[in-house]
Amino acid sequence: MTVPILMYHEISARPDTTFSRLAVTPQAFAAQLEYLVKHGFTTFTASAIAAALATGAPLPERAVVLTFDDGFADFHERALPLLRQYGCTATLFVTTGWIADVGQHAAGRRPGRMLAWSQIIEAAADGIEIGAHSHAHPQLDQLGRKRLRAELTVSKRLLEDALGTSVPGLAYPFGYSSVAVRRVAIEAGYAYACAAGNAMASPQRDLFALPRLTVKASTGEGAFCHAASGQSLSKVYRADRMLTKGWAVVRRTRAIVTGVPVRA
Ligand SMILES: [Zn+2]
Repeated sequence: MTVPILMYHEISARPDTTFSRLAVTPQAFAAQLEYLVKHGFTTFTASAIAAALATGAPLPERAVVLTFDDGFADFHERALPLLRQYGCTATLFVTTGWIADVGQHAAGRRPGRMLAWSQIIEAAADGIEIGAHSHAHPQLDQLGRKRLRAELTVSKRLLEDALGTSVPGLAYPFGYSSVAVRRVAIEAGYAYACAAGNAMASPQRDLFALPRLTVKASTGEGAFCHAASGQSLSKVYRADRMLTKGWAVVRRTRAIVTGVPVRA
C-alpha cells in the first residue's frame, strides 16, 4: 500500500514570483479537489500518515496527502477556502524567516507575498497541519552543522510558540537532504520529514525522506489522476523523477562553480 503525498507551492492564477511553473491555478486546484472527493479519496495530514508508517498501522485506503511549501499568502486566500469547501485537510510547510510579520526574525529573501502569523494560526485552527520548512530556506545539505541545527530548531520553536502545539513535521527546502541533515532533523525532535523525489510513500520508505509528487502548472488531469490513485506512476512522473536525479548533479556542480543556490 502506498500513499501519494502531493506537493504544491502557489495556488494562484497570477503568481507573485517568476517561478510560475510551480503555480497551480485556483481553477485547476478546485478541479483536483473535486476529483479526489468524487472518487472517494480521503485527505490526511502528513503527520497522520507518518504516524501510521512509524507504527506499522495499516495505511488507509484511497488516502492522499496534500502539502504546500513555503507559506505563500495565496494559501490563505485561495487554497484554504477550497479545502474548506471540499472538506479536505492539508499540511502547510512554512519557512518561518519569510513570514510576513515575523519582524526581527526575518531571514532570507521572500519569493513573493507570504502568510502572516494570524493566517497561519487560522489555518491551524481549521485543522491544517503546520510543519516547518526551515527558517531561511537554504540548501540544508550544503550547511555546516551549527547553521544546519539553527535552521531546523529555530523554525520549529517559532511555530510551536505561535501555535501552542508541537510541530512534528519538516519539509526540506528544495527537497534536499543528506545523512547529516536527516540526523539533525531527528535530534531536533521532528517525527518525520518530506523530501521531493516524485515517488509514493510506502512502509519501506525512510520516515525522514518521505517522497512527494510535484503538482505544478503543467500537471494535467491524466497525470493528476495517476498520482492520486497510486496505481502506477505516469510517464510524466517517471520523466520528472529522472529530471530530479539529473538536476541534483547539475545543482551540485553549479553550487561548486558559482556558489549560487538554484530554487526548485
Ligand atoms: Zn520551499
